[in-house]
Amino acid sequence: MNTSSAPSKHMIPYGQHYLDEEDIQAIVRQMREGTLTQGATIETFERSVAQYVGAKYAVAVTSGTAALHLACAAAKITTGDTLFTSAITFVASANCAKYVGASPQFVDIDPDTLNMDPADLDRRCKAAGRVRAIVPVHFAGLACDMSAIRRIADAYGAVVIEDASHALGGSFPNGTRVGSCSMSDMTVLSFHPVKSITTGEGGMVTTNDENLYRDLLRLRSHGINKAHDPLLLAEHAYTDGIQNRWYYEMQELGFNYRMTEIQAALGVSQLKKLDRFIERRRELVIRYDAAFADSADIRPGQRSGRDMSGHHLYVIRAPFGRGCVSRNSYMQRLYDKGVISQVHYIPVPLHPYYQKRGHRPEDFPNALSYYSEALSIPLFFALTDAQQDQVIDTIRSALH
Ligand SMILES: *Cc1c(COP(=O)(O)O)cnc(C)c1O
Repeated sequence: MNTSSAPSKHMIPYGQHYLDEEDIQAIVRQMREGTLTQGATIETFERSVAQYVGAKYAVAVTSGTAALHLACAAAKITTGDTLFTSAITFVASANCAKYVGASPQFVDIDPDTLNMDPADLDRRCKAAGRVRAIVPVHFAGLACDMSAIRRIADAYGAVVIEDASHALGGSFPNGTRVGSCSMSDMTVLSFHPVKSITTGEGGMVTTNDENLYRDLLRLRSHGINKAHDPLLLAEHAYTDGIQNRWYYEMQELGFNYRMTEIQAALGVSQLKKLDRFIERRRELVIRYDAAFADSADIRPGQRSGRDMSGHHLYVIRAPFGRGCVSRNSYMQRLYDKGVISQVHYIPVPLHPYYQKRGHRPEDFPNALSYYSEALSIPLFFALTDAQQDQVIDTIRSALH
């Protein structure tokens, strides 16, 4: 990439948030009238998301990464445990295992869905013998085969934590929404600006399990007891049978992963637009599919599930360097024409940190072959038809 010129206002990014006046007013109102942290707006946001996705409980945190960490901690995943996730994902899906001392292991992708391949998961679980957790990632918003994954998890007594960072607004073939945890223990969402809705930075864990919910609340705030947690040291906690006014207990090691009220106010406002956001993304995806349908070199990375996806990314696959330009030259050409593209993702086991720990990229042939051909092109709510036409022309003409 040409790093000497910063992207200008005329550049079309691969992903972008959308804020309107209502969002800005929601933030201003919170700042004028509300609390800044630990108030009622967080609960409103949590209730709204839980209701939208169809889960009983939701816990808002500072990022999707924090949500993955808390979910692992609440599931009591620990030193020596094995957690399986996809080879094609953002590094955070695997790093959460390291945060709790566990060992992340990778599963190859299905070349058609770009999601974790359940058959490969099954093989690798058999080889591992013991499996503590599975973290399926709904890549680009397309839901994984959760019934197959749940079946495998049950055979090993593993917990299932969905990484739905791409998939808020998407649904499963049975009609339930991603986030409902109908086939998992917990689901993780991200509100980073490129995701379905944003709170600047932010994340959430949804669950239907009351015990996990209580653990998540406590772990989010230092491991200090919440109102529903029984107090452990009665002689310090009570005077004449009444709880001391100053008293709290740190009952386990937790974190400060609390979202601010300002972020939650933005989240509540953004959620109202989610269905509109997804509908526009879907239109854009269908236009891209049609535009590349007759191309000899360019094919959509995912072809199925168009009506159920959260449409986080639009990935094309092209045989870069084999009958067309190298991917790097292609990205430079697109950039020179005002189009920013990106690769999602470098296979996680290829990163130096994971190679040093014995992971071998060649064990994931589908991930490697996908990686050599993949490019994400602009997809976001505010992308206009005219801008998309410009992107399509550039994508088609710059390949040779
Ligand atoms: C964005 C993302 C995360 C991390 O979310 P943050 O909110 O940026 O911490 C985790 N997993 C996947 C697949 C993501 O795309």
